[in-house]
Amino acid sequence: MANTTDTRAERAHRTLHLGGEWRAAASGATREILDPADALPFAVVAEGDTHDADLAVAAARHAFDTGDWPRTPVAERAALLRRVAGLLVRDREELGLLESRDAGKTLEEGRVDVDCVADAFRYFADLVAAEAPGRVVDAGSPDVHSVVVHEPVGVCALITPWNYPLLQASWKIAPALAAGNTFVVKPSEITPLTTIALIGLLTEAGLPAGVANLVTGPGHTVGARLADHPDVDLVSFTGGLASGTKVAHAAADTVKKVALELGGKNPNVVFADACATEEGFDTAVDQALNAAFIHSGQVCSAGSRLIVEESVRERFVAELARRARLIRLGRGTADGVECGPLVSERQRERTEEYVASALAEGAALRCGGKRPEPSSDRPETGWFYEPTVLDHCHRGMRVVREEVFGPVLTVETFRTEDEAVTLANDTEYGLAGAVWTTDAGRARRVAGRLRHGTVWINDFHPYLPQAEWGGYGRSGTGRELGPAGLAEYRETKHVYQNLAPRPVRWFAG
Ligand code: NAD
Repeated sequence: MANTTDTRAERAHRTLHLGGEWRAAASGATREILDPADALPFAVVAEGDTHDADLAVAAARHAFDTGDWPRTPVAERAALLRRVAGLLVRDREELGLLESRDAGKTLEEGRVDVDCVADAFRYFADLVAAEAPGRVVDAGSPDVHSVVVHEPVGVCALITPWNYPLLQASWKIAPALAAGNTFVVKPSEITPLTTIALIGLLTEAGLPAGVANLVTGPGHTVGARLADHPDVDLVSFTGGLASGTKVAHAAADTVKKVALELGGKNPNVVFADACATEEGFDTAVDQALNAAFIHSGQVCSAGSRLIVEESVRERFVAELARRARLIRLGRGTADGVECGPLVSERQRERTEEYVASALAEGAALRCGGKRPEPSSDRPETGWFYEPTVLDHCHRGMRVVREEVFGPVLTVETFRTEDEAVTLANDTEYGLAGAVWTTDAGRARRVAGRLRHGTVWINDFHPYLPQAEWGGYGRSGTGRELGPAGLAEYRETKHVYQNLAPRPVRWFAG
């Protein structure tokens, strides 16, 4: 009996995927994965280190240099991605539940994430399948055939955060595979479970051994090693600004290609005209709640800065706070729950520190600002925090300048269009922003002036796999999704063929 348990336990720890095999960490170390709703462990994974990272890179290097995948016909690569999409649909419930428990999001959010992931795999399959094999360029001579082709970059290190574990991994894995690369993925150490499951699906879909490698483990060891490893050709990182800068530094010595998807401090600009009718007012308030509080604000594009026209401020903020108080907080898998806990104790403490600093700097608390009372759906040990609205905020406050990554919405006001644009652009980040107005000209003018990678007009949060996603300023470099999201994973080569070679006689002798 004891033996059976041991074997099962040992198998559970084999979460590294190296050269097509599931393995435990070389050191034997493991980590418990905690459910944010009650802080109790519900899974155990291998805790890899730099040695495991080296083994994974060696496997990916070998598969790239000697394997078939980089040279596999595009139609076959696309077919594999479509099979993966089919398997994701098949396992939607299981993956949605895993994501909900691991990241603390609601079950419905977990399911929607899986749908979006399947869409991304289908999108990149369609994109590569429809492409011409190369672009013939006019060399100015009938004796020259000149063509520009794309090739895979090589070995890619893919490092992902905890807020959208499966989604962020897929936005990297799908284009990396579509382009013919091999990779090592390192999920966040606190939410690795759906990435582990995804690697299983890639294998089931028929991906050759060594193409997809996975190391679970910490950022400062595994992630840092992947970023500075000489055999890695590209590092694509999604996470916070502080870690992203370290990755960029670590990658510089070997002149890797680097793509960074970092944080955001995203403005949601509401003009009074958007609130002129009851329906318009209700929509703008409803979407401001959605912008700020979905997944407890742990969203890189969260609309955490409400910038509202002075004349409607009081009514708008009062209604917003009233509705924020009604948000049902609880375990993501419980019926009727609208918002889960924060992902970790650290994330909740961070949020509490930001709220305390805002209040000390003069912000007015309109709702929230504390841990909720425990209930049957909300164990006392879970990392819950009430949706919080802070009024009378300004750019001098840390809570307005820095990314909180919790359920905290700050309110600033403006009187003119220029002032609204200046406030919305007054951030070191530049990931996403929205403008609410019924004036079509103003909508286009303001959208044109916002220095953010995505601008929504009269909406918040939607993204499309066929449209690029990424940030201006310190929100990052490079783009995910869309054609540019595929281009990140490619080298461009010009092949110039002289069809009638002759001496050039540059040198007389
Ligand atoms: P984080 O920076 O702490 O960690 C992200 C990943 O990097 C993890 O896998 C971590 O282990 C690893 N890491 C940490 N230090 C590292 C190092 N020195 N070298 C290499 N890897 C290292 O971020 P997080 O707390 O997991 O995620 C939240 C952050 O992610 C927020 O700032 C959020 O805005 C950002 N994010 C951005 C996007 C986007 O599309 N721009 C999407 C999701 C999340």
